[in-house]
Amino acid sequence: MKLQSSLRQKITLGYLGYYFMALLVVALSLFIYFELRLIEQKIKLGEQITELFDAALEIRRFEKNYFLYRQGADLHEGNRYAAKAEELLDRNAVEFSGLTLAPRLAKLHNEVRMYRALMAEYVRTELADAAHITALEAQIRKTGKVIVTIAEDMAGIERSLIRATLDRLRATLVVSIVLLTLLMTAIGWLLSRLVVRPLQHMDHCVESLASGKLDKLTPPSSDREIVSITQAFNHMIVELELRQKSLVRSEKLAALGTMLAGVAHELNNPLSNISLSCQILLEEINENDPARKAELLEQIDEQTVRARNIVRALLDFARDRPVRREPVALATLLDETIHFLNGDRAPNITIACDIPANIVLQGDRPRLQQAFLNLIKNALHALGDSGNIQIHANLLPHPFDSGSDDDHAKTKCHSLKEAVDIEIHDNGPGIPSDILPRIFDPFFTTKDVGQGMGLGLFIVHGIIEESGGCITAESQPGQGTSFHIRLPLDHAVAVAQ
Ligand code: ADP
Repeated sequence: MKLQSSLRQKITLGYLGYYFMALLVVALSLFIYFELRLIEQKIKLGEQITELFDAALEIRRFEKNYFLYRQGADLHEGNRYAAKAEELLDRNAVEFSGLTLAPRLAKLHNEVRMYRALMAEYVRTELADAAHITALEAQIRKTGKVIVTIAEDMAGIERSLIRATLDRLRATLVVSIVLLTLLMTAIGWLLSRLVVRPLQHMDHCVESLASGKLDKLTPPSSDREIVSITQAFNHMIVELELRQKSLVRSEKLAALGTMLAGVAHELNNPLSNISLSCQILLEEINENDPARKAELLEQIDEQTVRARNIVRALLDFARDRPVRREPVALATLLDETIHFLNGDRAPNITIACDIPANIVLQGDRPRLQQAFLNLIKNALHALGDSGNIQIHANLLPHPFDSGSDDDHAKTKCHSLKEAVDIEIHDNGPGIPSDILPRIFDPFFTTKDVGQGMGLGLFIVHGIIEESGGCITAESQPGQGTSFHIRLPLDHAVAVAQ
């Protein structure tokens, strides 16, 4: 069975790496401590050897003086230094023997001892035998020279030993610092690659999720925790989509209620006309005027078709079906929508609709109708008891004026070749600038509880975008609100124009 990697494991491994490094640092510190102790000992030993060397030099100096001036005091001093050298050698026998000086040490000891014996003999035989004295003098000078040479040698060796220890310490420090830096960088890099990056990726995905993009997440690594967080998020996204759909459905139901009221109002006219024509027909049934009867029956048929169209529009609106693209006559669509909203309109509100009859859009009729319904309903709500709404549309210059710097041109609508700009303006209270950027957000509403769900403009935005168009809002508090919509024209109709 393959073991799944996990973030916890990787973080623990990172910690172990840092513990290992901490151990290395402790080991290095201990090493440096002991090396320093060693250097300290060697310096102390070096001091003893220097003392020995100084004593050897003094022996030689007094020896030379004595042979020159024959002063007893010089002989005495020379002997004293020889005794001191012997005493130094005895006192440091153990320390000195630990060094690579052992063979020289034994020789020095012998030479010093011999020197002292020769000096003693020299004193004894001074006056008696001149030839022996000369031989002794030569031997003493030779031994003294050997003593100085060995002491000098020992001092040199000790100095080079201290230097070597210092060099070793320096090299160890440099190598350890380089190794520790590399190790630290490698662990940091691994932790960043294996732990921080996947977390950053998740953070990024969650941010875009929070901003409303409900795209499914793909796990940035195969770590158990990341995979299960991604699965949880994806599950949440599915749930959110479901809930959003159900809320959109309830918003649609609310719009359907509005439309129903409009339909009832709209149906009244054809039904009254049909009823009137039927009554006339009944009254005149016995009259022999077939042309009149035919005219009345035609009127009944016409009104029935009108009623059927209204009901069909309502059914179309209510039905949940995939997006369809078809030619939609803008003027008729808006007329119909305004009629549906007649029941909601206060008597002192006027709606002026100035749409050229030849504008035919490319889109899903019921959905576009819902978008316009939501926008006009919002305007009616903002106006309250009185005011006016103006709706007009302009065909865009063809080919599209790419030098334009208006808001639409900056959006993806820029690429639209044949399009229409629609403006819905009301002279209501307007929208404060701090909330203007949020009005298309889902669930953003300034209305009281039960008055609005904050989904109207969100749905409008979705419908316009899915129709390949775009929408922006412009408002100055106290000077009303304008919604600018750009929608693609039906290609065949636009080319024919
Ligand atoms: P709802 O109508 O449920 O509040 P919408 O998404 O339709 O949700 O609108 C969001 C908010 O935008 C409204 O609450 C309102 O504050 C503001 N708004 C929309 N249209 C207009 C308008 N024509 N005039 C003033 N404010 C508006």
